[in-house]
Amino acid sequence: MKGLKENFQKAHIVIIGSGVIGKFNALELSELGFQITIIDPTQIQNSSNAALGLLMGNMYQKRKGRSWNLRKQSIELWPQWIEFLRKFNCELNIQKPLIKLTTNEEKFKKLKNFIDEINDLNLRILEKDSIHIKNINKAFQTKNIKGIISFKDGRINAISLLKTLDKYLKHKKINLLEEEIIKIRKSNSQWISTTRSNKNIKSDIIILCNSLKAVNLINSLSHNIKLKPVLGQAIEVDVNEEEVDLLSLPKQFNINGKNIIPKTKNKLIIGSTDEYSTKPEENTFEKLTNFLDKQPSWLMKGKISKKWYGIRSRPDGEPSPIMRNLKNGLIICTGFYKNGILLAPACSKWVANEIKNYFY
Ligand SMILES: Cc1cc2nc3c(=O)[nH]c(=O)nc-3n(C[C@H](O)[C@H](O)[C@H](O)COP(=O)(O)OP(=O)(O)OC[C@H]3O[C@@H](n4cnc5c(N)ncnc54)[C@H](O)[C@@H]3O)c2cc1C
Repeated sequence: MKGLKENFQKAHIVIIGSGVIGKFNALELSELGFQITIIDPTQIQNSSNAALGLLMGNMYQKRKGRSWNLRKQSIELWPQWIEFLRKFNCELNIQKPLIKLTTNEEKFKKLKNFIDEINDLNLRILEKDSIHIKNINKAFQTKNIKGIISFKDGRINAISLLKTLDKYLKHKKINLLEEEIIKIRKSNSQWISTTRSNKNIKSDIIILCNSLKAVNLINSLSHNIKLKPVLGQAIEVDVNEEEVDLLSLPKQFNINGKNIIPKTKNKLIIGSTDEYSTKPEENTFEKLTNFLDKQPSWLMKGKISKKWYGIRSRPDGEPSPIMRNLKNGLIICTGFYKNGILLAPACSKWVANEIKNYFY
């Protein structure tokens, strides 16, 4: 065992891509004693910075298969990591609960069946007269919204999480290189990552966490992986506070697929869309506010005070995410077109286990 730990300490791992997946992998592996270098030229513009941070784990309706297993593991890991990361940011937390609502009777029936079958006290049905949606019905001038509430799911502020991870990485003196990797190759027993400025970085292991661009690095190594770009958009809307008090609403909820986060009395965030595209459209406001048959006038009169987007990668022809040990210390952990924040702990654990096995 001692020998193993020594191997870990000597081994150098390069993580390409510094979104939430790259940073979480760095956290997990650094705690195991590995030497880490993260490489990313423009980490501010990635999709992790655009995320709303909803953690929809326990309310996932399919209770078997890989996707559920990853969610289940992440739900268990998140509280442990939050406790650990509080040393670097005492305000980091998961704000609970999470509410998922629909105006579609068929969808509500499915949600109801799911809750009946699952029999979990953390998951409850919300009928239209429920206390939890009384103020939503009032604010959105609707009568027919129904859904579920999950007391185990919630939201983490993605920007705050990323900043906290940065503090951790700095504290651990983890090397962060602002470079783009344009080529990787194996030479004898070492991997070489070549930067655009022609530097070569040697490592024992490479983990590809660079989303769409991962494909460019492995195509020449004859791995057939395809990723498609998926656009996610969000807006912050200012409304007239005389007409509605947004702070009377739950902290985070989803109506007919749109995530809604009231920020202040007169400011709310709405996201996100899922088109196969790399460019945000002009009509973001219409797209994001069109989630009810009739929208309340306060929302229609609202003004966008901020808007942003992120491009995520979706595997083509296989389920998301792609987590594969490609060969001799080359690992890919990407293709998170949804739920990358939620799944980061479970996926990083998977990578760590692969790497531990590699050194056995
Ligand atoms: C509007 C929006 C809302 C979302 N809401 C949620 C949510 O509520 N809950 C949730 O769980 N998820 C949400 N997501 C999804 C989540 O943001 C993604 O799943 C997650 O951020 C993916 O992280 P990543 O690290 O794989 O990719 P990214 O954050 O995109 O990071 C990839 C990094 O790789 C770097 N890179 C690329 N090529 C190279 C190269 N050649 N060399 C070095 N570096 C390179 C890039 O610069 C980038 O920083 C949302 C996404 C969007 C856009």
